[in-house]
Amino acid sequence: MSDYLVKALAFDGNIRAYAVDTTEMISEAQRRQETWPTASAALGRAMTASTMMATMLKGDSNKLTVKIEGGGPIGAIIVDANAKGETRGYVSNPKVHFDLNRHGKLDVARAVGTNGHLSVVKDLGMRENFTGQVPLVSGELGEDFTYYFVSSEQIPSAVAVGVLVNPDNSILASGGFVIQVMPGAQEEMITFIEKRLENIDPVSKMIESGDSPEQLLYNVLGEENVKILSTSPVSFSCSCSRERFADAIISLGEAEILDMIDEDGKADANCHFCNESYHYTKEDLESFAEEARKEKNG
Ligand code: ZN
Repeated sequence: MSDYLVKALAFDGNIRAYAVDTTEMISEAQRRQETWPTASAALGRAMTASTMMATMLKGDSNKLTVKIEGGGPIGAIIVDANAKGETRGYVSNPKVHFDLNRHGKLDVARAVGTNGHLSVVKDLGMRENFTGQVPLVSGELGEDFTYYFVSSEQIPSAVAVGVLVNPDNSILASGGFVIQVMPGAQEEMITFIEKRLENIDPVSKMIESGDSPEQLLYNVLGEENVKILSTSPVSFSCSCSRERFADAIISLGEAEILDMIDEDGKADANCHFCNESYHYTKEDLESFAEEARKEKNG
């Protein structure tokens, strides 16, 4: 079954909730980048949380970039996600894996590191982008996104994200949910939800056992309290293309392109996000140099 996301309200609109199955999305990221299990879990958690965050944006053309740098061995995690459910992401060092931590889980905090920041840049189609940044509080990422919502957006939230990996490094299950408390919520509701959160299985386990995104929210909030508003597909999607990389080469300027022709007689570009490679011949570069000259003079 394909990945999808649900948006819901609960307790008469006092709670906003999102849940998503990202098993296919993270499987594709893992295959393309050949990430090892701990790196897959870090990337998958970040992509899952970012996917939900992006669908909170209003307007289809709005998008955001999440950057997590914790000083750990995987380096930076970069995720682009938009309001249409299209997400791409990568880690600087995909070949990172450690033994399970003391909770028997993939040791994401060790791979990410705990000394750094999570930053979010939202492109809402206005002149200035919105930027928010918080220090990492755990490196496990679910808690870090929770802290981001509370601290940077002043929305009390609970974020749960999880990834399970097969022995052959492929992805077994991935997904998550976000529960947000609106200003009118009463103390009893919050206490009820907190108790449920303490007693449910990890979100990756629920998805592995076959729970749908709707069911994840029923597990947390109680089915009788939840009103599903919408469901929409989500997927791994990269916007790179041969033309886009060509434009990037042209923007280097004529002199630089002529140097490339002299030194290599060709150019190769590789997309960090989807790992596609684009090859440009000497003739391609000569026409790019020509275009760069025209752009400068025009
Ligand atoms: Zn790409």
